[in-house]
Amino acid sequence: MKIAVVGTGYVGLVTGTCFAETGNDVTCIDIDKSKVEKLSSGQVTIYEPGLEKIFIRNQKEGRLHFTTSLIEGIKDAKIIFLALPTPPGEDGSADLKYILGVAKDLGEILEKDDYKIIIDKSTVPVGTSEKVHNAILKSAKEKQGIDISGTFDIVSNPEFLREGVAVDDFMKPDRVVIGTSSEKARKILGELYAPFVRQGNPIIFMDEKSAELTKYAANSFLATKISFMNEIAQLCEKVGADVDMIRSGIGSDDRIGRRFLFPGIGYGGSCFPKDVQALEQSSREIDYDFKILKAVMQVNEKQKMHLVEKMKTYFNNDLEGKKIALWGLAFKPNTDDIREASALTIINELINLGAKVCAFDPEAMLNVKQELGDKIEYTDNQYDALKDADALVIATEWSEFRAPDFNRMSSLLKDKVIFDGRNLFDLAQMEECGFHYQSIGRRTIEKNN
Ligand code: NAD
Repeated sequence: MKIAVVGTGYVGLVTGTCFAETGNDVTCIDIDKSKVEKLSSGQVTIYEPGLEKIFIRNQKEGRLHFTTSLIEGIKDAKIIFLALPTPPGEDGSADLKYILGVAKDLGEILEKDDYKIIIDKSTVPVGTSEKVHNAILKSAKEKQGIDISGTFDIVSNPEFLREGVAVDDFMKPDRVVIGTSSEKARKILGELYAPFVRQGNPIIFMDEKSAELTKYAANSFLATKISFMNEIAQLCEKVGADVDMIRSGIGSDDRIGRRFLFPGIGYGGSCFPKDVQALEQSSREIDYDFKILKAVMQVNEKQKMHLVEKMKTYFNNDLEGKKIALWGLAFKPNTDDIREASALTIINELINLGAKVCAFDPEAMLNVKQELGDKIEYTDNQYDALKDADALVIATEWSEFRAPDFNRMSSLLKDKVIFDGRNLFDLAQMEECGFHYQSIGRRTIEKNN
């Protein structure tokens, strides 16, 4: 099938590349000229495991193209995916200006009797399909003087991929959700997604509104799980219980499940913060007070500062001039995405308190340099960051931080102090190595030499 993908960010690039991988002819469109130039010359613009290999293969085989021109990109495409940003607006609700802007542009160029399916892959509030439909019709009437109703169908097909494992998630999704009232669109999309669900995972067809809300419900539920465990971790610290034990104790119950029960330094990333906020705000607009989501957000904000609070207590409220090493900047491992990363909240607070931060991240340093410049120092490897540091903070659970050389760490750090926001290390081992070690929801290990 010939497919166009409008928006070539994390979702658009993975979507386009994976559809090319199953034999479709894909053109990705983006208004960012430099991004399109890089992609056209074979450079992958994001770090995502497994993406580069299939990107290069499909580009070489002529199934993956890039352009800045919408009209050129959608020419001959039967299916047009919208993978555009939906950032929070001033009141927290999803800002639809990118989606509706492209809908208007499409209305100016879609032709009568040239059937197309326009698929919303962005995360959008209930009712957006209808808005996109109306915006296209209105613009076609105003700019072209034609009525193109019946020439296109709008589908809501929210994306559930997780950054860091996005290619695997896209190629073997737990489920595909397709919201449409059109039989024709349903049949075509069933065929398009068939290669991705060969192992029996379902394609779930539903109406557009339910599909739109499904995505918000999924992200909000996962964020709730995280905030819940962060509250349990806070309790553990107060009563002297161990959150790892609680995690095993409750995770073995099928109804709860083992995944997503790790406490930490609060959820971040491009999705959870904005999606929880948008669902709460859109509920308020229709006079529904979504109490749980308010609490989820409050807990998350507090948790982002939890390690800083621990550091303030340890250093007697005096971080002025202290050198803090920080491992991990990305909002989670295996991505270079730093949107809403808790590490950045911690860094900004440490700078406010007069500390100097020296950071290392395997993939996200370039993005952080663009945002923070020389406000902090950066090192080429995790150990160089430790030289003469008063403490180490761990903010992202990259695999390479999990089993480090503790002797080397001891000799580099000025003081053997670790604040671990990801519970990477075993408490007994920390005791043996003689570190002062504070983690989340577990007892503090005091320095013993
Ligand atoms: P992104 O910011 O990485 O990418 C969006 C791209 O759209 C950018 O490259 C931007 O230049 C481009 N763009 C903006 N206006 C355009 C226009 N008029 N024409 C063409 N291109 C345009 O965003 P993302 O992370 O890929 O997210 C896209 C949507 O998918 C959001 O609604 C997000 O909530 C949702 N989503 C994201 C993820 C994720 O993990 N990132 C997962 C599931 C769903």
